[in-house]
Amino acid sequence: MTSIISDSALAASDIIEKTPLERYVAPEKPSLVGMTRAQLADCLAAVGVAPAQRKMRVQQLWHWIYFRGFTSFDDMSSISKDLRATLSEHYTLARPEVVAEQVSVDGTRKWLLRLPGEGAGHDERPHEVECVYIPDTERGTLCVSSQVGCTLNCTFCHTGTQRLVRNLTAGEIVGQIMVARDRLGDWPGATRPTDGVVPSGDRCITNIVMMGMGEPLYNFESVRDALLIVTDGEGIAISKRRITLSTSGVVPNIHRTGAEIGCMLAVSLHAVRDELRNELVPLNRKYGIDELLEACRSYPGVSNAKRITFEYVMLKGVNDSIDDAKALVRLLKGIPAKINLIPFNPWPGSKYECSDWEQIEQFSQVVFDAGYASPVRTPRGRDILAACGQLKSASEKLSARERMALRAMAMTD
Ligand code: SAH
Ligand code: SF4
Repeated sequence: MTSIISDSALAASDIIEKTPLERYVAPEKPSLVGMTRAQLADCLAAVGVAPAQRKMRVQQLWHWIYFRGFTSFDDMSSISKDLRATLSEHYTLARPEVVAEQVSVDGTRKWLLRLPGEGAGHDERPHEVECVYIPDTERGTLCVSSQVGCTLNCTFCHTGTQRLVRNLTAGEIVGQIMVARDRLGDWPGATRPTDGVVPSGDRCITNIVMMGMGEPLYNFESVRDALLIVTDGEGIAISKRRITLSTSGVVPNIHRTGAEIGCMLAVSLHAVRDELRNELVPLNRKYGIDELLEACRSYPGVSNAKRITFEYVMLKGVNDSIDDAKALVRLLKGIPAKINLIPFNPWPGSKYECSDWEQIEQFSQVVFDAGYASPVRTPRGRDILAACGQLKSASEKLSARERMALRAMAMTD
């Protein structure tokens, strides 16, 4: 769990600042990126494309936007010149603006993206959101945000301390994946970056986790629409089994997640008793552990081949005793489950410490002996504040000193 940060890595991880925040102007024309087929058809109708042609034109646009990743209408060779001109008069193919890209020593990349403020007025301050890419030899996982900030205030989570909160649109959620594929050269024929690790296969992004900023099930419709675009076989085509949505336990939307999206589910459990979970995950006061686990038991499609992941953050002296581990396996009995132990990632001002490594190993052994795979999630990208629970966008920026303090913490654990 040691993270060594060299001087050159710090230099490599530095930031490209584009438009200063004060001079940001919200885009005037709508972008087609992130639109569903039905929305694309409406956009075509609005510029006068005849009803009989719309279905075919939607197919073509879909291919160029989501399969090829084109950023200009001019290159869409199957679409007539006139229509290309009309489209570019009224729409763009813009993605969220990348304000900063940081590359960690371990290859993790974090992008800070700028989005229009609510109401998208010109004098409105823009919002910012983060998106993280975690490469491995065989797979590349993109951690996507669903909200700017989060309303839920889990006591160990940095995102929960951010004041400014709004839901992202489906387009802004898909936009994160589009930006990441642009930056990684993850489109047919594009060039991969040379300054970091990418997996060896055809695709840089093989998996998606809705584990960035925000509670995805408090923005259900947009998350659903976005994920249905991402899984569409004629576009980005990432399988539903390779998409995991993590929730802190918004029980009423758990069933809908299985029924309407069909992706894998992860539940942030973190405690085995309501009393402690009420404190760590305050949403537990509304939907307690029993109710949450009941929703998991009846998650559509749950089976041994499609298990629910239970996330458990390891907080020293708080939830990491051997008795807690035993209670955890008792609690999950009968649910097809995986248990993911997450070493707590510190952030400036956090009141917890990460459990000692030995304690994590002993805890993990109890879980393993009970028949569960119990991988400990290796913290990735701590040096660039990209690890679980560290995301917090510049809507309330960390001072340089806070960042340094965090880097120092990551170096010494
Ligand atoms: N809101 C959703 C998804 C985003 S958080 C949820 O809570 O599930 C993604 C995961 O990171 C959750 O399991 C969350 O509990 C965990 N997490 C939050 N802060 C953390 C921290 N400081 N260290 C380690 N994991 C953390
Ligand atoms: Fe929100 Fe998840 Fe953080 Fe809790 S852990 S504050 S639900 S992002």
